[in-house]
Amino acid sequence: MSIHNAGLAALRQRLAQAGFRLTPQRWSVWSALQGLGGHPSAERLYREVRRAHPMISRATVYKALALLCQVGLVTALPGADGAARFDLGPPHVNLACLRCGRIQDAVDAGLLAAVQRVAWRRGFRVEGGVVVQGTCSRCAAKSGHRKRDPRPHEGREAHG
Ligand SMILES: [Zn+2]
Ligand SMILES: [Zn+2]
Repeated sequence: MSIHNAGLAALRQRLAQAGFRLTPQRWSVWSALQGLGGHPSAERLYREVRRAHPMISRATVYKALALLCQVGLVTALPGADGAARFDLGPPHVNLACLRCGRIQDAVDAGLLAAVQRVAWRRGFRVEGGVVVQGTCSRCAAKSGHRKRDPRPHEGREAHG
């Protein structure tokens, strides 16, 4: 099952397995992350949750987010500007732009499996996403760099 599309019941079950209850706050943070898509910062998520729940505090949103990370439902990625970005599981490869901070998904099961295999040989368990740093196509275009050919073969992409 893809946790990306998990509904209320699935989220409740996943939290219960880890020994936590599904509270309205946790649900609203989860829904906001699903609704926004991409890789928002905690601050961006907080603003989104507040649209539906104007009385919710920043601390509540941050705590709910931390819990979702703790139980492995959400992955925190280091952002180029120092602020963590949040990503719905499962782990995947992310392309992070060092200039604008945008993170794109590069969903490629073979690539992730290769990373996991290398890690596993060292007794290292992959629990988070993989971040590849560089310059995105928009920033490259802005700074006048031409895209190189041939383009590498890519998996499905999501922007955000
Ligand atoms: Zn960029
Ligand atoms: Zn991602």
